[in-house]
Amino acid sequence: MSAIIQLLPDAVANQIAAGEVVQRPASAVKELIENAIDAGADKIRLVVRDGGKSLIQVIDNGCGMSVADARLCFERHATSKIRKAEDLFAIRTMGFRGEALASIAAIAHVELKTRRVEDELGTLVEIEGSEVIRQEPAAVPAGTSISIKNLFYNIPARRNFLKSNPVEMRHIIEEFHRVALAHPRIFFSLHSDEQELFHLPAESLKQRIVHVFGSSYNQRLVPVEEETTIINLSGFIGKPEYAKKTRGEQFFFVNNRFVKDPYLNHAVVKAYEGLLPPDSFPLYVLFIEIDPAKIDINVHPTKTEIKYEDERAIYAILQSAVKRSLGRYNITPTLDFNQETGFSHMISPKPLEEINPPSVSFNPDFNPFDSGKSLGGRPRAAIPQQWDTLYQIAQKTAPSQLELRGDEAEPGADQPAPARKQPFQLHNRYIVSQIHSGFIVIDQQAAHERILFEQFCQQLESRQGASQQSLFPQTVTLNGADFQLIMDLLPDIRALGFEIREFGKNTVVVEGIPADLTAGVSERQVLEQLLEDYKNNQAALKLSRREQLAKSLARHTAIKPGMALSTDDMAELIDRLFACEMPNVSLNGKPVIVTFTLQELSERFER
Ligand code: ADP
Ligand code: MG
Repeated sequence: MSAIIQLLPDAVANQIAAGEVVQRPASAVKELIENAIDAGADKIRLVVRDGGKSLIQVIDNGCGMSVADARLCFERHATSKIRKAEDLFAIRTMGFRGEALASIAAIAHVELKTRRVEDELGTLVEIEGSEVIRQEPAAVPAGTSISIKNLFYNIPARRNFLKSNPVEMRHIIEEFHRVALAHPRIFFSLHSDEQELFHLPAESLKQRIVHVFGSSYNQRLVPVEEETTIINLSGFIGKPEYAKKTRGEQFFFVNNRFVKDPYLNHAVVKAYEGLLPPDSFPLYVLFIEIDPAKIDINVHPTKTEIKYEDERAIYAILQSAVKRSLGRYNITPTLDFNQETGFSHMISPKPLEEINPPSVSFNPDFNPFDSGKSLGGRPRAAIPQQWDTLYQIAQKTAPSQLELRGDEAEPGADQPAPARKQPFQLHNRYIVSQIHSGFIVIDQQAAHERILFEQFCQQLESRQGASQQSLFPQTVTLNGADFQLIMDLLPDIRALGFEIREFGKNTVVVEGIPADLTAGVSERQVLEQLLEDYKNNQAALKLSRREQLAKSLARHTAIKPGMALSTDDMAELIDRLFACEMPNVSLNGKPVIVTFTLQELSERFER
């Protein structure tokens, strides 16, 4: 019987491998930049067009390739980086599997130009779907330039699966952030559709972080440094009060390779215990140097997972080092005069003598959520620390209210509904209002969120957001990725009532904000939160983009529990709530209003 098993042709095998190595333009970007780093380049330029779909080009000034290598590099398992199995345990390069170029060449139009410094003439190779269609000598600069055009041109299913250009661009920027942070001593630039998004000169790690994320990060960073026999740890962590709602700013590099590691992440987060607002993620950019023999990188083709011999010890070292840094930062508050308005000024450092150096001790009164820093702008009533004060206030109010309604609306009474009594507030959190059959209790925050949400949705529909001019237009500088995002969202953000103009590189000027945001709101903060939420939600649930924006803005601008409301405010809130399409559903799908009937009350009184 003849064999039915056959070896796959190379082109097919390469296409299959490509499925693992190259999922989207960003994965090709990662592989190409890593090759440039392995080639010893100290200047690396990335150029993309249409979110990488039509062009990804990486130009480096590294070692270049000989004529023979320029052809060989596209063969599968062709690598200059390891020669024998033992080498797998001493890997210091980014690549080693010899898969990337072969995979990419199987699914795109690739043009390679390369020259070693010692050669007079370089080489040009063109490949389409694993087939060499041109190879010739060429006068090119020393180093290597690889262009990848029309990724997935021959796999329509994959090409159609790609997301919109801005989304793919965000993935590319994410990869770019990773390599740029991992190699601050290398110059990097990123051009997208003719616009330069990043221009990062060779610099220190701290300067690189600030360059990538924005100048406001300068005072957010705390250094971490620890040398042990197992690992050397270095890098920066973010001060707890700047923790964000998305994980976007968390980076581990093991021997300069970006890795994802939930276990080690846990060690860092544990060190922050008690210092972070709920559901927030601190920034960290941490480098672990470890003997390559003690790890296995070869767990996954994308090489973002690592197995460690000594996992527990690394966990312990990480946690204690981060804790110590946080402790030290608390002892020596940074004297920073150009600090932005943030929560940091509320952390009052304790006098030195009270502190035991290595332990982390924070002002126990610090709570970023009950400060006067409400987004609603109106000053918030002070919340009494003792609950019994609140209780007394409630008691004082309650009897008079009860007296007022004493004899009317008996259970089952069928007289017409009495004129609505004035609503009142419970614990500065709930609004109580009498209705014909009893009374209702409204969660003030949920109600206001619902009202604003529906209002913002309408504005987005009709494209007519009421805006109020800012007296002092503010410029807001964002990082490249956020700037890109804000430009994508601009029409919708304008419809919400923001008046925003592009103002130079990665900077916008905010000239007006939605009319509902009262004075005292920081434009920068609302914008940043809007972007954070947007990124956050995009990963999680698939709301429509407008719904997301409306929701986020409503959340950040609605009144919060703890805000005292005047009777007029309450009456207006109730009226507007009942004018809503879905008054009784909070933005989380929970009730906004709870009804108590007189019937229920009399049952409680066992009448
Ligand atoms: P790997 O990086 O795992 O070795 P690749 O397919 O990414 O595999 O690259 C294959 C080989 O091509 C590399 O080992 C290297 O010798 C060569 N190469 C790729 N990119 C470059 C570059 N930018 N400069 C010099 N040589 C390169
Ligand atoms: Mg490689």
